[in-house]
Amino acid sequence: MRVVVVGAGLAGLFTASELIEAGIEDVVVVDKEHESGGVIRTVRRDGFSLEAAAGTLMLPHPHLSPILDRLGAGVVKVEPSASLRYVFTRDRLVPLPSTPKALLAPIVSVGSKLRALAEPLVRASPGSEDESLDHFCRRRFGDGMGRMLAWLAASGVFAGDPELLSARSAFPTLTTLESEAGSVVRGGMRRRRSRPAGMTRPSAHLPVGGMGALAQAGASFLGDRFRGGFDIASVIHDGSGWRVEGPETIRADHVVLAVRPQAAAALVDPALGAVLARAVSAPVVVVGLGGPFHRLPLPPGFGVLAGPDSGTASLGVLFESSYAPARAPRGQGLAKVIAGGARRPELVDWDDARIIEIIRSEVGQILGTDVDPSFIEIVRHHAGIPQYEIGHGAWLAELDGLLGDRPGLHLTGWGYRGVGVALLASDAVASANRIANHRHV
Ligand SMILES: Cc1cc2nc3c(=O)[nH]c(=O)nc-3n(C[C@H](O)[C@H](O)[C@H](O)COP(=O)(O)OP(=O)(O)OC[C@H]3O[C@@H](n4cnc5c(N)ncnc54)[C@H](O)[C@@H]3O)c2cc1C
Repeated sequence: MRVVVVGAGLAGLFTASELIEAGIEDVVVVDKEHESGGVIRTVRRDGFSLEAAAGTLMLPHPHLSPILDRLGAGVVKVEPSASLRYVFTRDRLVPLPSTPKALLAPIVSVGSKLRALAEPLVRASPGSEDESLDHFCRRRFGDGMGRMLAWLAASGVFAGDPELLSARSAFPTLTTLESEAGSVVRGGMRRRRSRPAGMTRPSAHLPVGGMGALAQAGASFLGDRFRGGFDIASVIHDGSGWRVEGPETIRADHVVLAVRPQAAAALVDPALGAVLARAVSAPVVVVGLGGPFHRLPLPPGFGVLAGPDSGTASLGVLFESSYAPARAPRGQGLAKVIAGGARRPELVDWDDARIIEIIRSEVGQILGTDVDPSFIEIVRHHAGIPQYEIGHGAWLAELDGLLGDRPGLHLTGWGYRGVGVALLASDAVASANRIANHRHV
């Protein structure tokens, strides 16, 4: 049985490794780029290492950890100070605990905090509605804290708009906790208590050599099975199998499209393509600012998210050199700013000078001091971060229905069931199981 995986981003690499692990040897992974990795890339210059997209991995993870071991990708823990996170609100940096104590943080009024603390008493919704993240958080935690939490979660994970994102699709854990325990706080505490003693809690890790090295490890693991510079034009159902057409035609029993939904739309038949083309994403700009500490004084910690009242184009600033000192030369700092997103998509089209001017000024405002970086790097993600807006679940169900009529065609990647790297690993396991089970029918 031959499986062709289109796309050698992390989703494609993980899926291929799971297929091989499941005993399916005839796997071919193609990518239009010569290098593997997709959006992830480690930009190295002047002793700085800037991660263009994902920079950390939450480990251990039941699906991601075995894949990393198999690929031979080493990981190290981030600095302990990474547990410190901040919110920039009312013109100052406020520490935000990553525990339920966050509800007591001075990021909203006292009245809002009191209302948030009453969350366990709020009656659960009947659960049929696909509500926005903003609506869900306000309903559970009240207007003040709910708006703040929804904003931070939407910015921090999706660079998204909390009024458009679906609570259920974008943050399924939150809605599951409510349906399991009638309350997010009670559900979280219940899960915490039921965690087996001695079980390690997932924490942020860094791939040794950067995310670029992880992509390279994936390609090395695949060896001749990886073909770069192989741009696929169409994927056509042909008899009992599939024809994957690119620089040459490859026949396959199964095809895994590990490309964005918008890219997949151009490869498949018009009926499926029309549904895939409805996917939404938000362009973001990543700006690396580096320099001697006195010109870029970064506090200890993981980073800061801008609150809803900040009015900044910057959604957040990661303190790279604080939690991952090897990413900057000794004595120097590196900040990774993520800007634009669903609320400021136009930023991605600004010229470099205009982006640098606004980002420098906003980082100065956030850190409370002028910054004068000697290293500046801009990465534009025009295709952007997928947005799981209201209706995303219904869209996935519609796709599942269409795939039912196209046996052997599979969709994976961050456009569908999770934008984080660990969720790509879970999806890879699910796709490989589906294909392997098919083999035994
Ligand atoms: C700024 C930013 C920060 C992030 N931070 C984190 C983080 O801290 N933690 C985390 O877990 N995740 C993070 N992510 C998300 C993470 O980077 C993504 O989930 C992941 O890299 C997506 O991988 P993918 O394989 O699904 O897609 P992609 O990387 O987009 O890969 C798709 C591949 O398909 C190829 N392709 C497309 N069309 C064709 C074609 N016609 N023929 C052949 N090949 C084709 C492309 O060249 C590409 O290589 C971040 C993302 C961004 C942008």
